[in-house]
Amino acid sequence: MRKKVIAGNWKMNMLPNEAISFIEKLAHMVEKTENEVILCVPYTDLFYSLLTAQNTNIKIGAQNMHWEEKGAYTGEISGKMLKSLGVEYVIIGHSERRQYFLETDEIVNKKTKAALKNELKPIVCVGETLEQRETGIQEQVITTQTKLALEGLDKEQLQNVIVAYEPVWAIGTGKTATSEDANEAIKSIRNQIEKDFGRDVSESIIILYGGSVKPENSKELFSMSDIDGGLVGGASLKVDDFEKIILA
Ligand code: PEP
Repeated sequence: MRKKVIAGNWKMNMLPNEAISFIEKLAHMVEKTENEVILCVPYTDLFYSLLTAQNTNIKIGAQNMHWEEKGAYTGEISGKMLKSLGVEYVIIGHSERRQYFLETDEIVNKKTKAALKNELKPIVCVGETLEQRETGIQEQVITTQTKLALEGLDKEQLQNVIVAYEPVWAIGTGKTATSEDANEAIKSIRNQIEKDFGRDVSESIIILYGGSVKPENSKELFSMSDIDGGLVGGASLKVDDFEKIILA
């Protein structure tokens, strides 16, 4: 049985004092859950979030990293730096990174490999645009993105990878994929992983749905056979909503 995982993505929101009080509140609310609870916070909140989340069941992640360990990359943060703080997870290839910062499948693959090399667990995002869905090529898009993101990894490494299916048209728009469509898309990702790494890996890998997950739709989405939880943007900024999603 795969574990349920709920990961929040705060994006470019929350100052350190806000992060601290959010995590203090959430820690009490979710102290009994068996679900994996992750908060992916801005770099500037990492240190305070890690301290506040100590001895709670909230895990802390970053939202991006560079693939090199160090060097002349002004403004960048490496996996080694994240690991040195005690960070456990890192989002890789979020559609906002692909869209605004021109991250290609090749870059996503390099970052995924670098995350694993530094003992970070990557949450690798894939998802089609509205145009791609309307032309009926969504399955081809997401299976190709999955294949390329995970290329060159071995089975053992896959145990520490989470995939997030996030249709771009559903992110921050209030539009959610129907639970059936999301489940179908995630099944196609699982099939691709089975082709590339075998059935044992495809059946054990955690695959999340992301795109306007909220308290009202989380229960139905998370009850689908292939959806192992959610990557949550907007609703992870409100502690009461995020609690409801985690407990859904
Ligand atoms: C996200 O940022 O990964 C996301 C899914 O955002 P939202 O929940 O706001 O759609």
